[in-house]
Amino acid sequence: MPNFDLRTIVFMSMLLTFMFSMMLAITRVHHKEIHGPGYWSVGNLVVGLGMILVLIQLDSSKVLFLPGMALIGTGLSLYINGIQAFTNRIPDHRIPVLVFVLLLGMDAYYMLVQHDVRTMVVLDSAVFALVYLLCARLTTSKDDGLLGTLFWIASSLFLISALVMAARAMLALNADASVFQSLASWSVNANVFLLGAVIQFFISGLFLLMLSYRLTQNMASIALMDGLTGVVNRRGLEDAAHKMQGICKRINLSMTVMMIDIDHFKKVNDQYGHLVGDDMLRHLAKTITGILRSGDVLGRYGGEEFCVCLPNTTEQDAVGLAERIRIGVENAPLLDRRHKIHVTVSIGVADSVRVGYDFKALVHAADNALYQAKNAGRNRVVRASLVTDTQVERRRKH
Ligand code: GH3
Ligand code: MG
Ligand code: MG
Repeated sequence: MPNFDLRTIVFMSMLLTFMFSMMLAITRVHHKEIHGPGYWSVGNLVVGLGMILVLIQLDSSKVLFLPGMALIGTGLSLYINGIQAFTNRIPDHRIPVLVFVLLLGMDAYYMLVQHDVRTMVVLDSAVFALVYLLCARLTTSKDDGLLGTLFWIASSLFLISALVMAARAMLALNADASVFQSLASWSVNANVFLLGAVIQFFISGLFLLMLSYRLTQNMASIALMDGLTGVVNRRGLEDAAHKMQGICKRINLSMTVMMIDIDHFKKVNDQYGHLVGDDMLRHLAKTITGILRSGDVLGRYGGEEFCVCLPNTTEQDAVGLAERIRIGVENAPLLDRRHKIHVTVSIGVADSVRVGYDFKALVHAADNALYQAKNAGRNRVVRASLVTDTQVERRRKH
């Protein structure tokens, strides 16, 4: 390796670290819903501050060198907290505190009391190696797709950093005593620092890529949600139905679709206003969700119509559930400030046994049944198998 100048390396690394810190901080400010970038930003900032202290102490007395190294270690252990937060684990704040106390205490003891710089270098390399190992362990991921690949690269880089630190410890153990008169002139130090800094920039870049991936994922899931009720929208419903259909078809299970429409909803809007109407839609989505089983998918099909996809369910089974929904809605009025607003729903049910797995065909059959429920006086459940061809034909002509 060429003989790099340690001062220049530390100075450039410090500038780049601050730049990454700023970029991560901006992401943190704009996307509070994503956990992790705050820790990474502060981590980079702390590493950068540590670098300043190391930089100004390379030639003179070493008092500030000690907190400098401790801050670099603390900054790196904040990465651990960031990864924990990003992967929905609870960040363990004891880790950075412990690393700071350990590095400062250990280095101060060996440098100022024992005057044994060799042991100091060996021990702080070991602490850095442990921090990197912990990062490597936390970034091993079972995710597939881009996020999994990014995690895998980060984990490998952390592992390389841990090995580099272990190598530094070994080299320090066997180095000539004269090396420890001036750490700045020890070429191993410059090379380890350079490699460490390069890996750190790659990792910061990976963090930014992970954030951008998470943001895209969040946007994609927002596009499938209904903003008013919080259940999936028509696109989300079609997505879910498509997946459900694939699974049910493969293992030969039936699948049922339920169309639910509020009776005389226009009157609610006319009498209480659209905002109360909106509250009613939210209330209804909540009531129905509370009755459904796990695995059933409720979506807002449009306007005041909801649709439920039920895996491993026949029309016969679904009628029982539909009755519970109908009665549940009837008995759960919306409590407005001044009013208790009652509504009822009509429900049409159709299953894959008669109609096939195609979502459009299922919705069409359930909608025909719903139409008959409305015709028969509302607040009732009608199954598609009981709708006659004549009734369908009459509706078509209508
Ligand atoms: P029916 O029993 O035949 O279903 O009568 P209805 O009044 O419920 O049916 P109609 O289709 O005539 O009216 C649906 C109403 O739903 C009309 C529209 O104002 C209202 N609606 C649709 N989407 C929304 C919404 O997002 N918020 C509110 N407040 N009302 C909505
Ligand atoms: Mg209606
Ligand atoms: Mg309607």
